[in-house]
Amino acid sequence: MASMKTSGTITEETGAGFARDETGSIQPTIENFYKFCAEGKLMALKCNRCGAIICPPRIICPTCFHDRFEWNRLRGRGRLLTYTVIHFPPTQFQALAPYAVGIVKLEEGPHLPGMIRNVKPEELRIGMEVEVDFETALPKEWPRWPRYFFRATS
Ligand SMILES: [Zn+2]
Repeated sequence: MASMKTSGTITEETGAGFARDETGSIQPTIENFYKFCAEGKLMALKCNRCGAIICPPRIICPTCFHDRFEWNRLRGRGRLLTYTVIHFPPTQFQALAPYAVGIVKLEEGPHLPGMIRNVKPEELRIGMEVEVDFETALPKEWPRWPRYFFRATS
C-alpha cells in the first residue's frame, strides 16, 4: 500500500478498523471519515501547516496544498447555508422523498453537504440552526458506510 503522510496526535480514542499509516496515524481518507461516523463522531482534518479545518477530508489542503493533517472532532453544529427539496430522487432514496439536502456552515468553518431530516420542507429556512446526527443502521447499498445527516437543533 502506498504510504500516506499523516502526523500529529489523534485527539480521540478510537476503535479498531481504521486504515493507518506507518506511524500509526489514522489515514486522512473518506472511508476513515465514515468509520468515525459509525462511532458517532464528526471528524475533520486540521492542516498542520495553515490550520485549515477540512471536512469531509481531502488528501490535499485546499487552502495551502499541504498534505499533513491531524484529526479533530467537530461539535457538529452549524447553520443552513442553502438547501433544495428532492421530489424525484435516485432509486435508493425513493422511500424518503420528498426530502431536503443542504449545505451547512459548521461552527468550525467547513461547509458540509448532507441530508436534512426531521424538518418539514416548508419549515426549512436559510440560516436555521442544525446539528449533525448519525444513522444507526447501515445502508443496504454500496458503499455500506454509516451515514450522517442534519436535524434541526432542539
Ligand atoms: Zn493548509
